[in-house]
Amino acid sequence: MSVVVEGARKVYRARRGARVVALDGVDLAAKPGELLVVVGPSGSGKSTLLRAIAGLEPLDAGRVVIDDRDVTGVPAGRRDVALVFQEAALFPHLGVAANIGIGERARGTRRGDVESRVREVARTLDIEPLLSRMPGELSGGERQRVALARAMIRAPRVCLLDEPLASVDTELRLRMRGEIRAVQRSLGVPMVHVTHDQAEAMAMADRVAVMAEGKVLQCDTPASVYARPATTAVARVFGPLPMNLLPAVDGVVTGVRPDRVRVHRSGSGRRATVVAVEPAGEECLVTVDDLLARLPWADAPQVGEHVVVTWRPEDEHHFDAATGARR
Ligand code: ADP
Ligand code: MG
Repeated sequence: MSVVVEGARKVYRARRGARVVALDGVDLAAKPGELLVVVGPSGSGKSTLLRAIAGLEPLDAGRVVIDDRDVTGVPAGRRDVALVFQEAALFPHLGVAANIGIGERARGTRRGDVESRVREVARTLDIEPLLSRMPGELSGGERQRVALARAMIRAPRVCLLDEPLASVDTELRLRMRGEIRAVQRSLGVPMVHVTHDQAEAMAMADRVAVMAEGKVLQCDTPASVYARPATTAVARVFGPLPMNLLPAVDGVVTGVRPDRVRVHRSGSGRRATVVAVEPAGEECLVTVDDLLARLPWADAPQVGEHVVVTWRPEDEHHFDAATGARR
């Protein structure tokens, strides 16, 4: 089972002829059993991409291939794709079990078979105790799990998740990352999970596709994207903190991760002044002139202190100043 998107282009025509290029030549492939995370800021085209894969949004150009079959012209209902949204839309007047089984019932599956499928998928997602409740009696995280169960019950060929954890509180979000991974592994389907949350992308992805302005900037394992961002744009957006990018010298932009910047009280290096110190648990974020450094809290300098900043040559990244491309 796999899903491939080739040359996807989508232009929305807004009022008075204004055009929004939501997808600008997107190529993407999720392999069998792979969890591909699409990460990018709001408005970068993530939802449009998922809707195009699901068949809810016709493309202006390009194609969608599921299991080696071109489904570009196939209506949504016949694509065998499950899509879960951020706001889990459950039927409020139906119980949880009925909500999960509603699609199966609609397809004419026998009542007894629907019930056993509902139990099975509820067990996988650890929501059996919720089956007799009403949607109004669920927390946000529980609603999300019920929505996942409803999507999973028909063993789709592809599973698409559009920011499913965005409105779930932190503690549950951390747990659900692992749960979604576990469900995806047990189903063995390719899953495309969309998020604007870098940490979530890093934590969950087999591979990550970094999107901005309708384009996929880079697609690779999270570790590779982090270690070798392909462009300055990726270096800025991917990772827990943006990479420091120094003003160009001779057509080259030098980048350094905040975790690799060292701050000393004396010695040789770049002289700088501490502008801000922000506690962050065991660590602190220190702004020295226009550079960001993450240091152990015990090493925190004072605001206004004159310091010396260094880093190791091997921690430098180099980009072309004109194109932004890695050199
Ligand atoms: P994301 O999910 O990454 O936040 P979207 O795919 O929702 O981004 O949107 C991409 C761009 O397309 C945005 O600029 C958005 O305003 C625009 N857009 C999305 N849907 C429509 C629509 N139905 N009509 C016009 N513009 C749209
Ligand atoms: Mg969206």
